[in-house]
This record gives sequence, structure tokens and C-alpha cells, in this order.
Amino acid sequence: MIKEEQLQQLRENIGDCRRCKLAATRTHIVFGEGNPEARVMFIGEGPGRDEDIQARPFVGRAGVLLTAIIEKGMLLMRGDVYIANVVKCRPTVDLAFQRDRPPEPDEADACGVFLKKQIEIIRPDVIVTLGNPSTKFLLKTSQGITKIRGTWFQYEGIPVMPTYHPSYVLRNGGDNSPLKKEVWEDIKQVIARLEGKSINIEEDRQKEKTTVLDSLSEKNTPHKKKDDVQGTLF
Ligand code: SF4
Repeated sequence: MIKEEQLQQLRENIGDCRRCKLAATRTHIVFGEGNPEARVMFIGEGPGRDEDIQARPFVGRAGVLLTAIIEKGMLLMRGDVYIANVVKCRPTVDLAFQRDRPPEPDEADACGVFLKKQIEIIRPDVIVTLGNPSTKFLLKTSQGITKIRGTWFQYEGIPVMPTYHPSYVLRNGGDNSPLKKEVWEDIKQVIARLEGKSINIEEDRQKEKTTVLDSLSEKNTPHKKKDDVQGTLF
């Protein structure tokens, strides 16, 4: 079965899911969207108000910023990547369906199996986790995003770059947020890895060792650095 069919099959299996308490208040399940053959997967925490209404991930203000990161920063089309969340129904404070909140552990555990299946099907070259909940869920770390953003990790052999959630950037300065530069530094690392076509961290480490040895012996080995990348600050 091709990846698109596998994803469709997964969506059918989720059905009118009632596996956690978020089912009680949602309008729509937000499965995720994008290219089943994507080389990059962006993972957020859960749908917000706009996403719940439209049944699409990252379509509100945070979605506009994520789209700018993809299109202006990475010079890709939004449809080239795949975008999903840890939970597929909107989590709100006291289930009052007014104020958004991060998913609770029981919700992430119940729904996260679907996200893991999506990753298994798509098998991207790189995953970008957006914010604390998706980073902690995938990497099983207790460290906060401020501390670990910009550092490569692995999930099931796939390189993972944690960075700030676009909503957090917007809440901290909006379009003029200084956090944008930090996100751009992280995204440049993702671009460099994709352009270098490295999909294996161990392979990359070996290449880096070779590059150091080559430069010591004054051989000129081309190696893509994050500062060589195309694209602009979004
Ligand atoms: S959040 Fe996930 S597990 Fe919970 S009801 Fe929605 S689809 Fe089911």
C-alpha cells in the first residue's frame, strides 16, 4: 500500500474516536495534512479554535507564521511538508472549549499512538517539534524547550530538531519577536541537513569527523553549513 493509502486507512481506523476526554468537546478531529512523501514533518501539540473549526492543523495566526517559516525560510511549499499534532482534538481549560491548553498526559498517551503511526508511515528525513509538549512526547525528555532547542535528537532513528512553537513566538513579541531569530537558526540547521541529504545522525557524525580530518590535511571538502543555506528570516 502506498503511503497516501496507509494514511487514509489510519484516518479510517481513528473513526469517530472517543478514546480520551477531548472527544466530548471537539467539533472536528484534526488528523494532519501534507505530502505523504514529505521529507520534513512539523509536529505541534494540538488543534486550537481555528483548527477545530476547519479540521486542519496550523491555520490560525500560528499557522500563518509556520507557513512563512516553510515558504520564506525553507523555500518550500506548505504542501511539500507534513503537519500534525500530538493530539487530534482541541484541548481546552476545564473542557470549557474557550481557552486552549497543552494536552494532558492521558490525552497524549491515548492519541499519540496515531501520531507515531503517521511518523512510521511517512518516515520523514527530519522531524521539527514545535514547543514543549511535542518535544517532550517524542523525545521522552523532561528538559524544557528553551534549553534544548537548536540541538539534534533522534526519534526511531529520525533526526529531530526541537524549536519554539509559533504561538509562543507570537506571544513573545509577535512579528518583532527576538525568538524568531532563534527559530531561524534552528530551521537553518534543518535546511542544511536536508540539503546535505544526510538522513542518519551517525553517518553525519562520521562525515563531520572526516571533514575535520580533511581540513587538517588542507583538502577542500565541501560540507553544507547552516550559514550557507538559502531562504530568509520569515
Ligand atoms: S484526542 Fe485523539 S484519542 Fe482523544 S478523542 Fe481525539 S482523536 Fe481520540
